[in-house]
Amino acid sequence: MFKEFIQGLSITFKHLLPGHSTTVQYPDERLTPSPRFRGLHRLVPTQDREKCVACYLCPTVCPAKCITVEAAENEKGEKYPQVYEIDLLRCIFCGYCVEACPVEALEMTAEYELANFRREDFKFNKKRLLK
Ligand code: SF4
Ligand code: SF4
Repeated sequence: MFKEFIQGLSITFKHLLPGHSTTVQYPDERLTPSPRFRGLHRLVPTQDREKCVACYLCPTVCPAKCITVEAAENEKGEKYPQVYEIDLLRCIFCGYCVEACPVEALEMTAEYELANFRREDFKFNKKRLLK
């Protein structure tokens, strides 16, 4: 018991030594997220429109049911999402929507600074997701 206590204390003191800190002085210092990090979504654009073909697979697979898609057809007869919205307050960043997309029209970025003052601002619409 005493041995474990000393071991625990030694770990604590080790992290107090200069150069062993595991915290950073955010926002002056920022850690780089790992390549597999799942942050804010992004709708991938093509030349003149978004790549999304409004197939409804991502809202279907989403366990949090936080994606809203409304399909429409353009003058060329192509389907596109007239409405595409993700409620990030409900999203659990599982990445299922990205995996389900058959045309790779959705990806997750490394953006994690998503603080807002109003709940409505967490509803990211198509315009914001295309940035
Ligand atoms: S990351 Fe998961 S919870 Fe968030 S929108 Fe995609 S499927 Fe839904
Ligand atoms: S799965 Fe892909 S193509 Fe289908 S609605 Fe979602 S983003 Fe669009």
